[in-house]
Order: sequence, then structure tokens, then C-alpha cells
Amino acid sequence: KRHVEPAGLGAVQAVLAAGDTGPAMPAWTDLDAYLAAGGYALWRARRGLPTDAAKPGEEVLGLLRALDDSGLRGLGGAGFPTSRKWEIVRSQPGPRYMAVNADEGEPGTFKDRYYLERDPHRFLEGTLLASWSVGAERVFIYLRDEYPAILEILGKEIARLEEAGLVEPGHLELRRGAGAYICGEESAMIESIEGKRGLPRHRPPYVAQVGIFGRPTLVNNVETLFWIRDILEKGPDWFASQGRHGSKGLRSYSVSGRVKEPGVKLAPAGITVRELIDEFCGGMAGGHAFRAYLPGGASGGILPAAMGDLPLDFGKLEPHGSFVGSHAVVILSDKDDLKSAALNLLRFFEDESCGQCTPCRVGTEKAVGLMARPEWDEPLLDELVRAMTDASICGLGQAAGNPIKSLMRHFPEEFGRPGAGLNA
Ligand code: SF4
Repeated sequence: KRHVEPAGLGAVQAVLAAGDTGPAMPAWTDLDAYLAAGGYALWRARRGLPTDAAKPGEEVLGLLRALDDSGLRGLGGAGFPTSRKWEIVRSQPGPRYMAVNADEGEPGTFKDRYYLERDPHRFLEGTLLASWSVGAERVFIYLRDEYPAILEILGKEIARLEEAGLVEPGHLELRRGAGAYICGEESAMIESIEGKRGLPRHRPPYVAQVGIFGRPTLVNNVETLFWIRDILEKGPDWFASQGRHGSKGLRSYSVSGRVKEPGVKLAPAGITVRELIDEFCGGMAGGHAFRAYLPGGASGGILPAAMGDLPLDFGKLEPHGSFVGSHAVVILSDKDDLKSAALNLLRFFEDESCGQCTPCRVGTEKAVGLMARPEWDEPLLDELVRAMTDASICGLGQAAGNPIKSLMRHFPEEFGRPGAGLNA
């Protein structure tokens, strides 16, 4: 990981100028190109219009209605309906704030990076429309520290927006994360924005009511905001009609692992993993047979190929003890050792646990010790995972046991038990 000094942009440029330590800067659509293609027309038409929470104007209500009709949901992983979240924050007493979660740290997830490196203004326009809709006084964009090129891009383009008079100076504030996975958890991110150590908060109260500096705060993911302009311009039906198998909308799947063509795949919500591999990834990599997949990064568990016809969408995998989260799909093959893969994931959680609560801090360490043994003690691991799931403060500890649980549930052959594990 390349270290970037808190001095920020200057240090990033110095690192990039050094040449051999950083990637080439991506070619992105800058302000001129974005404006030339009709960008910020939606924002220009609305900025300055009142957004009074007690008497919302037709512009605000129309925007909320469009989002509701489109079925847009939080694409950071939770899948909460976007319009409902905006309405909740709007209804809270001001002053209100907004935070954009650009701390993309779920293993296997790289879609936010993809969009920010290519079309940052589409995201920024969505951000401005969101902050206007909820009447947020300030917006904090909390960016993953491992994305130094994006730090530079956003720094430049936000400055240009200010120069062009399209946004009040200081309204959009760029904040660097410091490499902690837990700061992608929204309440830990808010603690970090406040200048404190990134420890998740107990809920309730929710951040929509008590967020940054105790004020109601709208937290949205990068990709959620990225789609706002398209939904308003092309219409909510355009977005909603693109789903498959009963789902609504488009999803950006970050696909990695044993496929011919990994990458960010913009595909219908609800597509199955088999369809994703065959239609979007050129099939399995040569010499590999599809055996298992992680539908939602490190946290969403491991499912067998026999369950490869389930729709990859919010709420569809939960009955099987799994979830799609940020849509990071990792494909494993007959050449992969599943127990080693699960152990690797638990080592990640052990490393990234913030240490605030015992079930997670001690539980992940104990789990790694138990999984590293030649034989897994299944009853003991089961008991440990239950304690972690039930008693941890935040999603990290609650989901850390998913790789263990799903392996024991869906892959009996790994434990010398009969059966293929389908729908276990
Ligand atoms: Fe920290 Fe883990 Fe507890 Fe979350 S569950 S608060 S990451 S120790």
C-alpha cells in the first residue's frame, strides 16, 4: 500500500510524479466534457429552490417520487430504499449533514473505484442533488486511502466546480480514510469524520437521526448517487425495467476469481451467478470447473455451484444464510481449497476487528485458531459463530462467522459427511 501524507493532494501528486510507485492516472471525464454532454443541467435547475421540510416543493417531491419508482436502493451493501432514507433525514430537524461512503473496503469490491475514476461528475451531481433534497448544509466525502488517484481527481474537479460557481466553496469536503476496513461501517465512518478513532456506535439512535456532530445525517454510497442523473433523465422506468428474475434495476457486480474476464459488470439486478459467468465474464477460466462462489465479498458467506441459479439481489440469498451485500462476486473452482479460503477470510476479519467488543475481538482470533487445525471442531465452531453473530456490536463481528457457517452448511463433503449440500 502506498502511503500518502496528510498534506493530501500535493503529496499524492509527488507520489504519482515519481512514476514507478503509482499507477498511471486514469482518463476521466472532466468538468468541461461533462458540461458539454449536458451535465449539471438537473442541478442548475434545482439549486437555490427551497427545500423546506415542512412544505416541500414539487421539485423535491418529484425527485423523491422518481427515486421511489425506480426502485433504487443503497448499493453500499445494505440495500435500503434510497428515497425512504432521504425522506427520513429530511423529516429531522436541521441543521443536517451528509456523508458519502467512498471507503470501499469489502474484499472483492471495486465498482465505486471504477465509476469515480471514469465519471466523477456524474457522482458529484448526484451528491449535490441528494444534499439539496435533504437540506444538508455540508457534505463529507469519505474516501478510501488506497485510492490516491481518485483523491487527486476529486480534489481537482471539486475545485473546478467551486471556480465555476456551481457549488459553494467548502460545501463538498473531501476526507481521507486511513486504511481501516471498519471505517466503511457508517457509524465508524462518522466517528472518523469527527476526528475520533473509527469505532462503530450502538444503534439506535440511527445516523439519520444522530449522525455527524449529533446532527441528522444522510449517508449514501458512491454508486447509489452515481445513478441519480440517469434515473432523472431517462426516467425511473428505464432503471426499474432492467432487472431479471423479479428484481428491479441495474447492479454493478465486481467479479473476480476463476473467470475468463473478471471486472466490473453492469448487469440486471437479480441475475444468477451462472448467467453472470456465461453472459458477462466469457465463462470459466481455462482448466477450471465452477465449484463455489462468494456472492457478497468476505461477509456474504460461500455458496456451492449447485446453488448457482439463485438471483443475486437483496433479500434473495438470506434464506440460505447468505447475502449479496456490495455485489462482490468471487468465483472459486475445483482447484481451490475451500477451507483455506474460509480461513483466509477469517484472518482478514481478525485483522480488521476494531477490538471494541469481546465477541468479535476474541471470537475472530479463536476462530482462526480452530480453523487452522487439520480437523475442524464443528460443534465448537458453531457455538462460537452463534456468540459472535448474536453479541457483536456491528456488522463486522455479526457477519465474520458467515464463511464458517456456510461452509459447514453447504459443503458437507468437506467434513466427510454425505450429500452435495444443495439447499441444506
Ligand atoms: Fe469492533 Fe468487531 Fe465489535 Fe464491530 S463487532 S464494534 S468491528 S469489535
